[in-house]
Amino acid sequence: MCQKHSEISQNPSHFEGTAEEHELSKTVQANYMDYIKDMKFFDPHIHMTSRTTDDYTSLIDAGVVAIIEPAFWLGQPRTGLASFKDYFSSLVGWERFRSSQFGIKHYCTIGLNSREANNEALAEQVMEILPLFLYKEGVVGVGEIGFDDQTAAEEKYYRLQLELSKDAGLPVQVHTPHRDKKKGTELSMSIALEHGIDPSMVIIDHNNEETVESVLDQGFWAAFTIYPFTKMGNERMVELVKKYGSERIMINSAADWGISDPLAVPKTAALMKIKGISDEDIRLVTYQNAIDAFAQSGQINVADFESPLVIDQSLKFNGNTVLRGGQIPRVDKNSIFIS
Ligand SMILES: [Zn+2]
Repeated sequence: MCQKHSEISQNPSHFEGTAEEHELSKTVQANYMDYIKDMKFFDPHIHMTSRTTDDYTSLIDAGVVAIIEPAFWLGQPRTGLASFKDYFSSLVGWERFRSSQFGIKHYCTIGLNSREANNEALAEQVMEILPLFLYKEGVVGVGEIGFDDQTAAEEKYYRLQLELSKDAGLPVQVHTPHRDKKKGTELSMSIALEHGIDPSMVIIDHNNEETVESVLDQGFWAAFTIYPFTKMGNERMVELVKKYGSERIMINSAADWGISDPLAVPKTAALMKIKGISDEDIRLVTYQNAIDAFAQSGQINVADFESPLVIDQSLKFNGNTVLRGGQIPRVDKNSIFIS
């Protein structure tokens, strides 16, 4: 077992499936599209800035018609305010345009992520520019914010951003920590309540079996990230939906620059279908609940993605396009010919 894998295995939420389960997941990988024909998906947490155009093509082919891209960190710390500014601008600008070129409606949440809240000098400056972005079109929440190491600075900026969400009337997308998850989740919820925020305006993300009951009991939305090797595997997700039903539960891929799967939502829908979960429950946890939660921002109009988006390849964003001379945005990935 390599170093990396043994580290991953220590994560209490790591899923190690049986051989039988791995066999099933191979079958699903090969044929899963057969199970989800005509289904539509909404992935409320995916970092497309770190993904490729191939991913956009796979997403739309699998039925993902709309997505939310939360603001987060880059894998390394930013050194100044300008890179925050450019990043937020790209979430409401270029990335949204790029998504539209593949027929996917793109929304985002804007916030100071928990890791970089620990650089207080920079965090102060970021707080000042957040309102400039929170009121822009297509911004459906303050996020992803919350705790990472559960430091005093993280708490300070979490509280300040909860206040911003109240001012803006926006839902809050809460990142819960990998370490001491239960404690961090409880703390996130109690602070939100302390600030007088209605739990129906708060989406608690990256849940697992340890946290789900308390999140649902207190009236919050419970989001689950389906990640290979860490957090939730999708077999476990199926069991959770069997146990807790579909009310206020949503699933996402949280795909980013790390090992992750942008197709986690459609693949999990296929697995739910195979495991006998009803079409209506699948629809709620892979589409409708996320819409209901984030539409409280007033920024989501389902007519924008209910029927296929018209891809207009003649459009440009500040003079730039996703195309290189003469290309069309859609290519048939199954064709062996690359012409
Ligand atoms: Zn994320």
